[in-house]
Amino acid sequence: MSDAQLLVAGGGPVGLATAIEARLAGIDVLVVEPRDGVIDKACGEGVMPGAREALDRLGVAPASAPIAGIDYRDVRHSVQHRFSGGPGQGIRRTTLHAALLERARELGVRWVRARVVAVEPGGTSVAVATDAGSRLVGGWLVAADGLHSTVARSVGLALPEPRARRRYGQRRHYRLEPWTDLVEVHWTGVGEFYVTPLAGGVVGVSLLARRGVHYEQALAASGELAERIAGADAVSELRGAGPFRQRTRARVAGRVLLVGDASGYVDALTAEGIRIGLESAHEAVAAICAGRSEQYEAAWGRTTRAFRRMTAGLVRVAESPLRGLVVPAAARMPRLYASGVERIAR
Ligand SMILES: Cc1cc2nc3c(=O)[nH]c(=O)nc-3n(C[C@H](O)[C@H](O)[C@H](O)COP(=O)(O)OP(=O)(O)OC[C@H]3O[C@@H](n4cnc5c(N)ncnc54)[C@H](O)[C@@H]3O)c2cc1C
Repeated sequence: MSDAQLLVAGGGPVGLATAIEARLAGIDVLVVEPRDGVIDKACGEGVMPGAREALDRLGVAPASAPIAGIDYRDVRHSVQHRFSGGPGQGIRRTTLHAALLERARELGVRWVRARVVAVEPGGTSVAVATDAGSRLVGGWLVAADGLHSTVARSVGLALPEPRARRRYGQRRHYRLEPWTDLVEVHWTGVGEFYVTPLAGGVVGVSLLARRGVHYEQALAASGELAERIAGADAVSELRGAGPFRQRTRARVAGRVLLVGDASGYVDALTAEGIRIGLESAHEAVAAICAGRSEQYEAAWGRTTRAFRRMTAGLVRVAESPLRGLVVPAAARMPRLYASGVERIAR
């Protein structure tokens, strides 16, 4: 006997978006997530305009600060572009998660508090074993268990992580009235500081860099940004995540579909994780409704292609001796910079 039409492994933002999409389509959903309540995670918290539209469609409206565009800066240059089609949002991670949780509960999503440890694929159903010793059976399994997905590994879809250019993210919040409605990306010698305006007089400051880069030391050496943050109270603990780069050989194995970071990830440099995660959730549920999982593979390729190419290209330059030319080149070619920012906004 089946426990649900759809099992979702992972109750982060993309798992909850999948569960909400499924309930809106009339599908019975069970989310398997080891952590209880509102979950925090290192994240830049910049929700691009396309993701804002997806949240509207899900009926989720978290408190946010508007994000009007993106501002690249280094010690000598700065270049800004404002989104032409309406703003994105700076949404504190816990606020986003709480809003998704509330909507999922309202729609009758069910939960099991456990970690998926293994998957047993079948012809007409799929079963998961949990660390609580239970075995759950569903018609389909959507894996939204994030970077280093247990499900992707268990069904043979995960590829080894490349060792070269491993990058990690760290994030902290400061009580400080946002001084801009743009996401500022400060290109420093050791990494990129991402500054996101958030609601309630708070800014989020993320550092994307190689392993071992000390957040506080890098911030103290960041010049203009260090001056902005000086004296502001830190209002959250430092959180980290990574390595970012995760590869998968395919996104579908029988009745198992990978979404969000679990489906493969490049880097947080273009702030698109939430946007493409929400799109992948939408496409996965559409494929399940159609009973055609292979439809999802094609849709995933289509919706993530531009992200994968542009982000991988930018990271390659960021990790090369040409790194110091990124902001000067963007400032010298504002139309090219603008078209890159518009692409991220989609
Ligand atoms: C420093 C940093 C900055 C970023 N900045 C941005 C940004 O500005 N904008 C943006 O859009 N994106 C950004 N991202 C990326 C974004 O945070 C991710 O793309 C997003 O969190 C992916 O959501 P997810 O639900 O797929 O995975 P996660 O948020 O990682 O959620 C996975 C969930 O699965 C659960 N889980 C794990 N293992 C199991 C298991 N075995 N069984 C069951 N459950 C399990 C976890 O407990 C967790 O709740 C950033 C990331 C980092 C690290």
